[in-house]
Amino acid sequence: MQDERNNDINETAITGVTGPITDWLDGHTILVGLLANPIRHSVSPTMHNNAFAKLGLNGLYLCFEVEGDRLEGAVKAIRMLGMRGANVSMPNKKAIIPYLDKLDKTAEMCGAVNTVVNDHGVLTGYTTDGIGWVNSLKEDGQEVAGKVITLAGAGGAAIPIAVSSALAGAAEIRIFNIHDRNWEPAKEKVALINQETDCRCSLNAMENKEAFKKSIAESDIYCDATGVGMPPLDDLSLVEDPSWLHEDMVVSDTVYQPRETKLMKIAKKAGVKHIYNGLGMVVGQGAASFKLWTGKEMPVDYISKIVD
Ligand code: NAD
Repeated sequence: MQDERNNDINETAITGVTGPITDWLDGHTILVGLLANPIRHSVSPTMHNNAFAKLGLNGLYLCFEVEGDRLEGAVKAIRMLGMRGANVSMPNKKAIIPYLDKLDKTAEMCGAVNTVVNDHGVLTGYTTDGIGWVNSLKEDGQEVAGKVITLAGAGGAAIPIAVSSALAGAAEIRIFNIHDRNWEPAKEKVALINQETDCRCSLNAMENKEAFKKSIAESDIYCDATGVGMPPLDDLSLVEDPSWLHEDMVVSDTVYQPRETKLMKIAKKAGVKHIYNGLGMVVGQGAASFKLWTGKEMPVDYISKIVD
């Protein structure tokens, strides 16, 4: 089969290698990978390889450009090569499920997997995006337990945030979305959250601006998980002006490029004290995956500085 992927080593550049590699990348090295496409932009290798090195673990994290009919073979390779596991990103998060042996509760509720753990040939799928978001707030002293959350979006970022927040004890989650392809699947997820957790969850029409604005005003946490704020929508915010927000709330944007989105600027003008971009969620999901593979805490402060 013709393979269009570029595997020319001479086209890759390495900087900063200061000497021969010893006690690392040897016969004992344990491999973890990322199965996705596109993949070259990912910060995950930087996060995980630096965490392995910092903790003195002989692990290696590599990216594999995999999708479609290569996915099943790639999952078999996790077993065959005795890899510890993998991260999974677009477009494989749902497609990988039939090839795994089991799912944890969050992955089952989300219907998506971003982490695979190989326990002696048994592959379990997890979703760490949502708990990564929850933990990134917790790191800064902000708990979701008992809180009312308005969540914009119902896609790949929003659903894990809703599921993990509900499992972490959020009192109420009000999801606002436009009537697009995510609306019907989101209805099912909302029903599942109401059935499986003590959290009250609802799906609301983003087109009803007044209801959206009122919900934000009543909330402890507002999270935008739509991607509005990221190029080419970087001069846009669903929250139109500072009067929509209040000082004591948490404002979180899942976007991390740019580091300060239009929403975050509006929140700053409103005097909001706790404002976060999506970098905490990226590191948080990585830290949760790292713990699943190694049993160890990722040195989050150290890694956050490296990827910022
Ligand atoms: P997605 O396409 O799966 O979902 C996007 C959602 O936003 C959809 O429900 C859509 O209806 C809604 N939406 C899109 N444009 C809108 C608009 N103009 N007005 C109102 N609603 C709109 O995408 P996703 O994978 O959920 O990603 C969303 C954002 O979150 C992206 O910016 C992505 O980079 C970011 N993200 C961040 C992390 C992280 O770890 N920080 C992880 C995943 C995604």
